[in-house]
Amino acid sequence: MFAHHCSACEETYLIFESQLTSLDNTANGIELRFTCWCGAEQTTVSGRLADRRTADVVAA
Ligand SMILES: [Zn+2]
Repeated sequence: MFAHHCSACEETYLIFESQLTSLDNTANGIELRFTCWCGAEQTTVSGRLADRRTADVVAA
């Protein structure tokens, strides 16, 4: 379970595992695809690599 800000409905919702449609390991981290409560398909990147990338952006 994680919080996500939807780009379609502009709301922040908790996303549950049951809403996930796919989960892929990529060079940038774990790419999660899921369906928002509004019905829109959304994607987010999670995992250690994603955290490090965010930290790099903050430090730059
Ligand atoms: Zn939404």
